[in-house]
Amino acid sequence: MASMTEQQPCRVIVVTSGKGGVGKTTSTANIGAGLARMGYKVALIDTDIGLRNLDILMGLENRIVYNIVDVIEDRCKLNQALVKDKRLPNLCLLPAAQTRDKSALDPKNMKKVVEKLKKDFDFVLIDSPAGIEGGFQNAVAAASEAIVVATPEMSSVRDADRIIGLLETKDHIEHYKLVLNRVRPDMMRSNDMMDVDDVIEILSVKLLGLIPEDKDIIVSTNRGEPIALWEGPKTPKATLAYQNIAARVAGEDVPFLDFDIPETFMDKVKGLFKIGSGAA
Ligand code: ADP
Ligand code: MG
Repeated sequence: MASMTEQQPCRVIVVTSGKGGVGKTTSTANIGAGLARMGYKVALIDTDIGLRNLDILMGLENRIVYNIVDVIEDRCKLNQALVKDKRLPNLCLLPAAQTRDKSALDPKNMKKVVEKLKKDFDFVLIDSPAGIEGGFQNAVAAASEAIVVATPEMSSVRDADRIIGLLETKDHIEHYKLVLNRVRPDMMRSNDMMDVDDVIEILSVKLLGLIPEDKDIIVSTNRGEPIALWEGPKTPKATLAYQNIAARVAGEDVPFLDFDIPETFMDKVKGLFKIGSGAA
């Protein structure tokens, strides 16, 4: 296990994509849970005002009393709004508000909230709403790293490209990496889906990891139990995939999973990872 020296500065990572429905919230919950499982203190922030659902994925929706807008508008203290995870005491959620009025959140007060969280956590993960407008700008404002989530479809890759272009304009974003979600090796093999290397080439981005298409992810969403925390001898591949991504985020050098993707193809992926890998 990595040592959690108090001196390590908190890392603030935004999870973003442009396109909706590609797995931002799923990835925020599972990478966060994966890091917490390793012993890190992790805060998750849902910035999807009006459409929150990170709480549901975490199974914490009934425990919400206050939300991020209450914190910003001084109706409560930050600590009162943080919802502790049921399973891991070192994992917390700062929920989004369910109001229609999105104007309460802006880059300035977002930074203020994150500054406070930085004192108590090793990682702050920020789940962003779909789109490239205000919601994205708020989500990204306080981050210094980004995880871009995409699926191997042209529309998703194009939106990810757009987001990467925007991230490039942000001086405070030191680096960004790609999580390619809903990967279907069978479809890639039969050329019915974009290859991993096609996506990486188009986006010219470092790969953080692949998540397979897996119906257990939907089961985990419905149960409010992040798949990264599933245990037992028959855990799905997505469990290990998210645990590995969390470990890479923490700086560990974890080899890529073999997704039953043909040898030559996996070699290519590994090669790409080697070329593209920095700390993760
Ligand atoms: P976003 O936050 O980008 O809008 P979500 O994380 O909410 O996307 O995911 C959208 C839907 O897709 C959810 O119902 C989720 O359960 C499902 N999903 C996400 N990733 C996968 C996957 N790898 N396999 C199967 N279903 C997935
Ligand atoms: Mg979402």
